[in-house]
Amino acid sequence: MNVRLLGTGAAEGIPALYCRCRVCEEAARIGGREVHTRSSVLIDGLVKVDHGPDTYAQKLKFGLDLGAVTTLLLTHAHEDHFTPSELIWRGQHFVRSDGPAPLGVFGNATAEGWLAEHGARYGLSLAEVCEELRIEFVPVAPFISFDRGPYAIHPLKAEHDARQVALNYVVAGGGRAILVGFDTARYGEAAWEYLGGFRLDCLLMDCTFGRTPSVGREHMALDDNVRVRDEMLRRGIIEPDARYVLTHISHGGDALHGELADLAAQHGMVVAYDGMEIEV
Ligand SMILES: [Zn+2]
Ligand SMILES: [Zn+2]
Ligand SMILES: [Zn+2]
Repeated sequence: MNVRLLGTGAAEGIPALYCRCRVCEEAARIGGREVHTRSSVLIDGLVKVDHGPDTYAQKLKFGLDLGAVTTLLLTHAHEDHFTPSELIWRGQHFVRSDGPAPLGVFGNATAEGWLAEHGARYGLSLAEVCEELRIEFVPVAPFISFDRGPYAIHPLKAEHDARQVALNYVVAGGGRAILVGFDTARYGEAAWEYLGGFRLDCLLMDCTFGRTPSVGREHMALDDNVRVRDEMLRRGIIEPDARYVLTHISHGGDALHGELADLAAQHGMVVAYDGMEIEV
């Protein structure tokens, strides 16, 4: 699988829109890997995880053919992961060619509600907005797998927002498996049991809190990730050579890319940057 990390930042991005902290000011000055747009991942150009407010900028930056994407997996309905208006441009008024490939959108009930609300602004029911945008919205429940072409998709329950069922996804294909692990705190026991059925080759994991101490909820810091990685090794979910990638980076983690990368390297982990490509 070809994995492209289109965005690797948390909600407000780095540099954050209105922030003047050290990390944001240095990131703005240095550019390159210090800049983190909102998190999204593209697998083989076909399967996309999350669709936030930087989707258009990411298309421009990486020359993406978003019309070729057939599967959109939504982790949860937070503004940095699902911006319904970035789907509206699939409508026939905004596409002059034959139109994009039909798109399966998989997400929780809150994401479905957001799409319905957005359609209502234009006087459209959910069914009408889906037809107009050539999408099929499919509600997803944790621990119930489904197939999409050559890929098996395995949703698991994230620990992120008590008001909705946030999801992480294992995407498996060609004998390889990747875990897209944002946004989440350390997993609950049901997720651990579920993950016990997999052997993961690559993990993209929430490291919102960077080098600051773990707060134990909603997101993870580096020290949480060390504990998660060790637990995965103990349970046989990963081998020591699995690629463990820290992403969903926030200025709240109080570290520039290089600073966090040095700390992560001590644990055999790498820090994601926008445009990073991984062959899994
Ligand atoms: Zn987020
Ligand atoms: Zn800042
Ligand atoms: Zn979130």
